[in-house]
Amino acid sequence: MGCFLQASLAPTDGEDASIVTRTVIVRSERIPKKLFRFFIELEGMYRNIVEQLVIYSAREKITSFIKLKALKYRETRNLYPHLPSHYVHTACQDASTRVKSFLKLKKEGSTKKEYPSVRRISIWLDDHLCRLDGLTRIGISTHRGWIHVDLIPHKQFYKYINSGWRLASEARIKLDRKERRLIIYLIFRRNVRLYKPSGYVAIDVNENNVAVLINGKAYLLETNIERITLGYYYRRKRVQKKYDKICSAGCRMKRKILRKLREEERKDDTRWKVANIIVREASKHGYGVVLEDLGDKPAENMISRIKDDQLRHRIFQAAFKGIQRAIEEKAKEHDVPVIYVSPRNTSKQCPMHRVEIRYNGSRIGVCSAGKEKWHRDVAACYNLLLKALGGDGSTAPSHPGLTLDGSPMPLGSTAAHDLTGIPRSLWARLKSLDMTMNKVIGMNIQGQTARGSQD
Ligand SMILES: [Zn+2]
Repeated sequence: MGCFLQASLAPTDGEDASIVTRTVIVRSERIPKKLFRFFIELEGMYRNIVEQLVIYSAREKITSFIKLKALKYRETRNLYPHLPSHYVHTACQDASTRVKSFLKLKKEGSTKKEYPSVRRISIWLDDHLCRLDGLTRIGISTHRGWIHVDLIPHKQFYKYINSGWRLASEARIKLDRKERRLIIYLIFRRNVRLYKPSGYVAIDVNENNVAVLINGKAYLLETNIERITLGYYYRRKRVQKKYDKICSAGCRMKRKILRKLREEERKDDTRWKVANIIVREASKHGYGVVLEDLGDKPAENMISRIKDDQLRHRIFQAAFKGIQRAIEEKAKEHDVPVIYVSPRNTSKQCPMHRVEIRYNGSRIGVCSAGKEKWHRDVAACYNLLLKALGGDGSTAPSHPGLTLDGSPMPLGSTAAHDLTGIPRSLWARLKSLDMTMNKVIGMNIQGQTARGSQD
């Protein structure tokens, strides 16, 4: 529990931080019955091998792939003499990955089982077991020799091929029995070469919006984090409570519903859209991205009995981290450097006078020295930016790097565009934030949430 937003974003174990990896799923054309049977046989053998290896290494607590292979290769190889030998190799990798995460669960007390059950299977292939013929055909080595299958490539696939990504020599396949197709998981990699930023885009993630500060302009991208995050949280609780009453702990129905909920949640793409628009903007200007350092694992050890607002806070921290991770992942793809700064006092202090901003329960506050107005999230962004530039008042007296038009701009000092609130329905379709200026301004004046009506 508590890791619901991390599922699709958590970096894989042992992955090099300077390399980005993306999986692209390609389907094959329909395969004739006779040929497809060979794949069913192959999957059956592969599954048996993985099952045996998993039971063995869970019992012996072996998590090292090399050790597992050293101990079991010969024996397994002799059991399946017709199978290309590299399947034993990849099955060992597959099994040790499964056992590693199983032993971790066991250590946390999240499972009482002796060994993990092997339910879903994808066949792991290495460079000896599969070969791409051009871009539209793949050859797979099986117990019946090489079988060639036609692929249905798509736009995304070509995009990766044509934009400097390398196709890794390993892949995975799943069988779609109903359609008699293979589902092929191709892996693309790319080296990250971070550039030296000439400025920064400051990002402050909040419950209802993501505030973006770029070149002295602040944008509030309205999000639905609040509804989504809390919504899923309470729905999950309800399901758990209901099924705990009527059936045993690990009941199948409950598991199924929770899994569906998790999938639904994963599909929600708000954070990828936010990440996309921010990173694109940073990359266009040659800037880096500044984020708040939220600390480690905010959602872990979530206990349901702690005070409600504390719990709420933790759930949100987890959601904020999810957005940050999406930004970081996207940034790697575009070589955009990301830095983290301490979130301390970012919304409480006036970025110009270094004194307290008084809010009186509103999101608009007044500087206690200069009496100018600040929107909380904009002040936060400016402070993040100043910290990133090393001029947060604590170390340097000046604000290095802040030019005249980049200097902090409180509300009401200049034109209406110093704060632009953009509803999700609009920004999600935008290619660039510059495009918002003309489109949003009309609507913004009526629906302005940040400025007082007297301005
Ligand atoms: Zn001030």
